[in-house]
Amino acid sequence: MHPELQFEEHRTSAVVAKELTRHGIEVTPGIAGTGVVGTIRNGTSRRSIGIRADMDALPIHETTNLPYASKTPGKMHACGHDGHTTILLGLARKLAAEKNFDGTVHLIFQPAEEDISGAKRMIEEGLFERFPCDGVFALHNLPGQPVGQVTVRPGAITACVDIVNVFIRGVGGHGALPHLAVDPIVAASGVVMALQSIVARNLDPLDPAVITVGAFNAGSMATAIPAESHLQIGVRTCTENVRALMKKRITEVIAGQAKSFGCEAEIQYGHGYSYPPGHNAPGLAAAVREVALELGQKPADIDIKGPYMFSEDFAYMQQTVPGCFLGMGNGAPAVFTTPATTSTTACWRKPPPSGPSSWRRCCPVHETLVSPARIERATY
Ligand SMILES: [Zn+2]
Repeated sequence: MHPELQFEEHRTSAVVAKELTRHGIEVTPGIAGTGVVGTIRNGTSRRSIGIRADMDALPIHETTNLPYASKTPGKMHACGHDGHTTILLGLARKLAAEKNFDGTVHLIFQPAEEDISGAKRMIEEGLFERFPCDGVFALHNLPGQPVGQVTVRPGAITACVDIVNVFIRGVGGHGALPHLAVDPIVAASGVVMALQSIVARNLDPLDPAVITVGAFNAGSMATAIPAESHLQIGVRTCTENVRALMKKRITEVIAGQAKSFGCEAEIQYGHGYSYPPGHNAPGLAAAVREVALELGQKPADIDIKGPYMFSEDFAYMQQTVPGCFLGMGNGAPAVFTTPATTSTTACWRKPPPSGPSSWRRCCPVHETLVSPARIERATY
């Protein structure tokens, strides 16, 4: 109800710290600005695990009219990170009350997942030196699956997204005299079409990758040829090899296509944020799968054949310590077809019918992960 954008999660962070303190949990605030870590120790084991929840919202105006809708105009938990935070607070309360495990659990409340990587900044500020973890887990709610349904796989689990900014420059002119101009719209159109051949013709069919031209801007009127076109491209890959191949071919195709139309192309590859591909440690993924089976879920519903093609800055944590990222059904329909931004993302927004508090139903997964036997096995 009170969404805050990246690194501005001051209210959320304070609520988290207050809740943890209320349950007698050791609290360390101020990591990466608004990040908070809660630590619960029990027994004598030296094993420790981390569980991460992200806290930030998006700059989208919420029009869902849900009872827990944003009260802040222009800001919305469109990705459901309020649910992630609530789930981890629910786990904190339960673990603190029952203390039925042996070892240490670090509850990592992370800022700024969306664009500028709070995970990276937490790591740079010594997250895993200050709070050593033998394994670290994170979940993301997913539309199109029943509430609480776990999906996981070993190995590649989330994509890298590289943002490419392209300026194609020609010569502007009157629409009635195209032979005196060099049309950057036609050239950019050729680029858009040619880019789609890269995945189809240059990539091993068993390697996933997606090239999306998400923005194409040029011109201002029907009767003039502009001097420049601007494309913004999202490139999703799941390994560093494929990432490098995409960069090589996309650069070649854009430059070659633009030149063939008489235009020049300026390519800014890796513009803005680019998160690395996420990799699930096989032992941790097996533990999560086992938990889902214990909760009565079916292998066919748990096992996914390939990685998610969205990106997650949890991948930075997975590069630092063994980690496992899992999907968790949120019961919303998997529809991304409506044009309005708010509607497009609303399906990520929809927690179970009774609202965010019922996210705690997902806690059994985390609770079971934190069982004594699993912490002991957390060498993975
Ligand atoms: Zn998210």
